[in-house]
Amino acid sequence: MRKIQMVDLKSQYEKIKTEIDSAIANIIESTAFINGPEVKNFQQELEKYLGVKHVIPCANGTDALQVSMMALGLKPGDEVIAPSFTFVATAEVIALLGLTPVLVDVDSNTFNIDPEAIKKAITPKTKAIVPVHLFGQCADMDVIMDISSKHNLFIIEDACQSMGADFIMKNGTKKKAGTIGHVGCTSFFPSKNLGCYGDGGAIFTDDDELAKKLRTVVNHGMTVRYHHDLIGVNSRLDSIQAAILKIKLKRLDEYAAARNNAASYYDNAFKGNPKLKTPARYAKSNHVFHQYTLITNGFDRTKLIEHLHGKGIPAMVYYPIPMHLQKAYQDPRYKEGDFPVTEALAKSVISLPMHTELDAEQLKYITDSVLEFVNRY
Ligand SMILES: *Cc1c(COP(=O)(O)O)cnc(C)c1O
Repeated sequence: MRKIQMVDLKSQYEKIKTEIDSAIANIIESTAFINGPEVKNFQQELEKYLGVKHVIPCANGTDALQVSMMALGLKPGDEVIAPSFTFVATAEVIALLGLTPVLVDVDSNTFNIDPEAIKKAITPKTKAIVPVHLFGQCADMDVIMDISSKHNLFIIEDACQSMGADFIMKNGTKKKAGTIGHVGCTSFFPSKNLGCYGDGGAIFTDDDELAKKLRTVVNHGMTVRYHHDLIGVNSRLDSIQAAILKIKLKRLDEYAAARNNAASYYDNAFKGNPKLKTPARYAKSNHVFHQYTLITNGFDRTKLIEHLHGKGIPAMVYYPIPMHLQKAYQDPRYKEGDFPVTEALAKSVISLPMHTELDAEQLKYITDSVLEFVNRY
């Protein structure tokens, strides 16, 4: 049996090695390392795939979020609503820009931001909401877009974990994660669903004016060379990464199907087990399983992780500490107990290996090993 990994990028690479190696060699040969034709090329392919008017490539997903907030003209003191159960990047850029993060709890089934909690958190200072499509499944964008129109708020989708996921709007139209709000952000970090071989990111929008501003901000606020109209940043996608992403984008749906196969295997193995709650499937969004995350019940999660590690199976906790309990984000407005769902999830979730290369033998070994431990209780 091949060694089990949380994410097996090596086995995935082996299958596309010829194509990737030749694409990388071509870029080196051309020496168009930055903003070469491959970047434009990938941008257009991604626009087509997502059905969105503008893709603005940038250096990483964190930059995508920061640049979006800058281009939308958010100012210190503006309140931005974000979930308390997520990766730090969301709250980080809000804080870096001097905006005020307003945290809200998540839904205990989908792990995603709770629209009812959003409604309660809106004040006259609220300017934007950042729904995070956590673990590969979309937040309830219907309700969130309704809240946005009613209160005139920007929606910045954090689609870093949900590349390729579809959301079915209440009028029946299918939209890709990240293309529903005013602006969408993604990351091409190697372990993401569409990952490159380094850092990378992109911003999506249908708004022509906003796209122009986003392109300006990622390029030092420059419109005409050495004319700086806005304060910007330096955030670029390398040509080598773009060339790799173009090759992997062609396989993204196939990759999502492989992740779903693994998820179904896990689901079947753990079905009905009172000690393990399998991930809820939300009717309006398909799941692209960036992570396969179980909620454990009635046993010590750390002991299960130790048991799995002892058998050569990695397992991780995403995320062990809620945002409001992080040292850097201590805030007199928040204390332990304020976000009960997030706090309970942080104590009980466990993520199993999830990637495109898991085979039946590995899946059987993983599920048998989990059940061997859990059934002891
Ligand atoms: C990965 C990730 C980011 C940040 O992306 P980077 O490319 O690592 O900067 C932001 N938000 C979420 C939810 C993520 O998973």
